[in-house]
Amino acid sequence: MKKKLFHKITALTLTRRIIQIASLILFPGLFLYSFSAIKSIYVALITGTFNGPALTGQLVFTASLLIITAIMGRFFCGFLCAFGTMGDFFWYLGTKLKLKRPKIGSRFDRLLKKLKYVLLIFVVLVIWTLGVSILEGTANPWTVFGMLTKFGGWTDMDTVLSLGMLLLLFIIAGSLYIERFFCRYLCPLGAVLAIVSKTRLFKIRKPRAKCGPCRACTKHCTMGIPLYRTNVVKSAECIDCMSCVEICPRDNVRANPKPAFATAVAVVALTGMYFEGNIASNQATERQIAAIAASLSTKQGAYAGAYSDGTYTGSADGYHGTTSVSVTVTEGAIMDIHVVSTGDDTLFFNQAKAQVIPAIIAAQSAEVDTVSGATFSSFGIINAVKNALSSVPQQQPESDPVSFAVDSSGETPMPQLTPSPSPVVMPTPSPSPTPTIQPGPISLADGDYSGTGRGHKGNIDVTVTIVNGFITKINIDQYRDTKKYFSRAEGKMIDRVLGAQGVNVDTVSGATHSSEGILEAIADALGL
Ligand code: SF4
Ligand code: SF4
Ligand code: SF4
Repeated sequence: MKKKLFHKITALTLTRRIIQIASLILFPGLFLYSFSAIKSIYVALITGTFNGPALTGQLVFTASLLIITAIMGRFFCGFLCAFGTMGDFFWYLGTKLKLKRPKIGSRFDRLLKKLKYVLLIFVVLVIWTLGVSILEGTANPWTVFGMLTKFGGWTDMDTVLSLGMLLLLFIIAGSLYIERFFCRYLCPLGAVLAIVSKTRLFKIRKPRAKCGPCRACTKHCTMGIPLYRTNVVKSAECIDCMSCVEICPRDNVRANPKPAFATAVAVVALTGMYFEGNIASNQATERQIAAIAASLSTKQGAYAGAYSDGTYTGSADGYHGTTSVSVTVTEGAIMDIHVVSTGDDTLFFNQAKAQVIPAIIAAQSAEVDTVSGATFSSFGIINAVKNALSSVPQQQPESDPVSFAVDSSGETPMPQLTPSPSPVVMPTPSPSPTPTIQPGPISLADGDYSGTGRGHKGNIDVTVTIVNGFITKINIDQYRDTKKYFSRAEGKMIDRVLGAQGVNVDTVSGATHSSEGILEAIADALGL
């Protein structure tokens, strides 16, 4: 029998609980990142868009996780996964509440455990391969869990009243009645790790000859493995939680290396992969930025007039708080973007940073795509850069007729036509000393027009300014949508409408209702 601390808990169990709580606080999104890293690599491979440097963090992290799991088994699930820890907590709560729990027959249990492989195949084939967008954003219980674990997350009603929240409540209810309900039956990442752990070298042994009629380890196995049938735990379901080792009254459950030592090695290795992934990702991003900046500096002078030289700072909402950046402009070109601070999870943030920052510098524009799996962090960087660029004094060559104005949100520079002779706004040859302007596509007289559209939570009011038949400015007068989502749609939709000079443009993914509301309001203003 193991020596118990505080009369109830052994040293190994106490250590496991401490590691689980620390991991929940420090790396609450680790499970989500692990799965999205595998997804990013898979999608990049099947779409032929594989970019090694941009995926360095994901490659290092995924390779480490899979190698450690292949050697040591699923310590990640037993010790580090915050979603698994949540399952343990609600199982404990159900025990304290003395809930009457169902007995699940071993055949039915075996069948249910296959469900997670079916889900994994569905996710890979339908969501990853065909790109069907279900379970995205707040429709995903993992994402909602990640949002709720941040400080103040419960006050965001869009998250609380979401499909993901409903699914999360279902998982919580299941966890009250079945230990590790989600891990046993539903987790697609658990399915990946189960397959990989088949090769594990770390084996737990329990010679049946010494057991007699005892079935304590089977009764207490976290994953419901019928241990009474086996001498060596080979099941891919085993998450290395060590409950069987701790519960055995005859000290009959052994492992080589010893469970405490194996746990220490596995947890240190798994934690190390977190830091390795981050360091590798940061280094690769720095190298990419340096290479792009070097190629830009060979075109010295080509960007003169775009932006005034200097360093500008800007901020915007990310996933877990504010992201602040400083943007360095040299010879009119965006040459460097430095992240000053962010409240986001480092792994997710680095995933976004590795692709978004080099893309902005290469495009010399913040109008770049977000990174799938790190959408909120991507928006944080993109909008912070836009915010920084909005404070850049625009250099204006004398003959350039297109002046730049900052839109109502203060976020996005946009072209504004001025009634002066211009190669863009064609002057009509005329004997008159006053140049005339070729009319644009909008058949409305010059002036401001108001319109209203329906957003996610209420009306959106806009004012559209028309000059010479062109939409030159769009002002959002009021909206009721959640600021976090609305601000994602606002800048992009205004830019798109200004660029297209019409409302036949795409909506912003992740902020569809707000996008549609803005378009409806603009169409209303234009009488379309
Ligand atoms: S099975 Fe899934 S949810 Fe459960 S601990 Fe493992 S990764 Fe986390
Ligand atoms: S076999 Fe032991 S270590 Fe594996 S899940 Fe069951 S109780 Fe945990
Ligand atoms: S708890 Fe120990 S003695 Fe009991 S069945 Fe398991 S290994 Fe055998």
